[in-house]
Amino acid sequence: MEIKEAKFVMSNTDWRKCPKPSLPEYAFIGRSNVGKSSLINMLTQRKSLAKVSATPGKTQLINHFVMDDQWLLADLPGYGYAKVSKEKRVKFHNFTLDYLRNRENLMCTFVLIDSRLKPQAIDLEFFEFCGTKGIPFVIVFTKYDKLTIAEKEANITAYKEKLLESWNSLPPIFLSSSVKGTGREDILDFIEETNHLFKG
Ligand code: GDP
Repeated sequence: MEIKEAKFVMSNTDWRKCPKPSLPEYAFIGRSNVGKSSLINMLTQRKSLAKVSATPGKTQLINHFVMDDQWLLADLPGYGYAKVSKEKRVKFHNFTLDYLRNRENLMCTFVLIDSRLKPQAIDLEFFEFCGTKGIPFVIVFTKYDKLTIAEKEANITAYKEKLLESWNSLPPIFLSSSVKGTGREDILDFIEETNHLFKG
């Protein structure tokens, strides 16, 4: 699948005010700085559709985009940052969790994981949340152009082992590099296939 037209729709913090749930929707989430904005820009082949930021924790809104008037992409706030204000240490915003629990047209959540890192407690906690709430998710290992293959594979294997401690099977896994365009086709094909399952 190709994306011909990617348009920003709106930003907000309330799932009730999100765009009408009449199209299939995909949410993108991950720790701040995981490469989420870069991935969205890479998928849509737009330089700055999503804002790439050097300051972790800056995008603290749910941003909706519509692709070819066919499907919606929700760019969710990054989690696990501590830098927004001196006092505020936010793990997950309640409004993000409410969105995930309630958004009726949400087909799948793409959970982004930095392939350079060993399994992080906060990501495992997020998988746990998805599991207990029945929120379907897939994993995207980002920045796959970094480190040696052996190093990345060791991190990914460690994640799989952690997941299999609480799950019977693994979700679909994608490997991506926004620098090299890796994973673009696989992710867009997955979305195209999943779009067919939408019952509007
Ligand atoms: P976000 O906070 O999750 O939206 O992350 P950004 O997309 O703003 O990226 C955070 C930093 O990681 C930026 O400096 C990006 O240039 C860098 N980055 C993002 N994706 C990749 C990637 O695939 N490869 C490499 N080498 N760097 C990346």
